Order: sequence, then structure tokens, then C-alpha cells
Amino acid sequence: MAVRKLVRLGNPALRTRCEPVPEDRIGSAEVQQVIADMIDTLRGSSGSGLAAPEIGVSWQIFVFESELRGDPRPVRTVVNPLLEPHAGELVYDWEGCLSIPDLVGLVPRHPSVRLWGRGRDGESLDLELSGFAGRVVQHEYDHLHGIIFLDRMRDLRSLSFMAEWESLVAGGERAAVG
Ligand SMILES: [Zn+2]
Repeated sequence: MAVRKLVRLGNPALRTRCEPVPEDRIGSAEVQQVIADMIDTLRGSSGSGLAAPEIGVSWQIFVFESELRGDPRPVRTVVNPLLEPHAGELVYDWEGCLSIPDLVGLVPRHPSVRLWGRGRDGESLDLELSGFAGRVVQHEYDHLHGIIFLDRMRDLRSLSFMAEWESLVAGGERAAVG
């Protein structure tokens, strides 16, 4: 296992639509190595989620912290996800990206989503997610389609450097970084 180097904005991997992982290859050493490295990389970062293109791999895989409690916090793996938003007005909250370091902005997201896919061992997943985790999976799902949070912002005037935001705006709040 290894912490991989995060690619940053400008790397074409972040603008590439990722390929699904063939189901019979999820258990292969190659795919399992990528998943293990993604979990290590997430744990070594300040983020709550990480998508494969953020380490330069164009497969439909992301990992995210499924709960905000625990040490280390539990991480869930999603392979070949499908995401469907539930009805409801979009909610604005603060978001950042491991591939666009140090910046945060207000991003509208669906208040809750249903997420299907395969887990780390190829098992079926069917999850209902809302709040912070719901925001993180929408951010990671976007990465698999070459979309970054700046594309989702409706107004760039909230874009801030993390340090300024933390000292002037956040009031102890945590941005969803993925
Ligand atoms: Zn990101």
C-alpha cells in the first residue's frame, strides 16, 4: 500500500470521463492495489473523499468517509457508481478539492441522493446519503465524469483561500473536501 501523488488542476485526468471497471476485475490485484492506495492517500490527506482521477487513474472508483466519527474514520469504497438525486431544493455549502488545493467555495448540491455500485470486494451497494456524506459523494461522482466543483459554483464571489475562510468565515465549520 502507498500514498499516491495527487494530481492537480490542469492534469487532463481531471477532465476525462472514467471507464467502468469490468466486474470480473474488481477482485484483481491491480484494482485492489489502486483501492488500497486510494484509501491510504485519503487517510494521509485533509479530505473526506477521493476519486481515482485525483491520483491519475481513469477508472470509476471513489472512496469516502462514510461516518465523521471514529479514529480512523471508516472509509467506504464505491466502484462503478450510479447516483440519483432525491427531489428537493439544492443546498449551498462549503466545498474544496484535493486537486485544487487551498481553495473553498459555496457549491449547490442535492440534499440527498441514492447511490448504487459495487463495494471493495464486488458486493452490491445501495446507499441513501444526505448532509455532509451526500455532498462528498456528489463531489466524487462528478470527478468520475470530468467535472470539478468550480464547474458547479453559481457565483465565484464566494471562492476563498482556505486559511482566509477558516479565520474569517468558517466559525469552526468544516468544508467538504474531496
Ligand atoms: Zn475533488
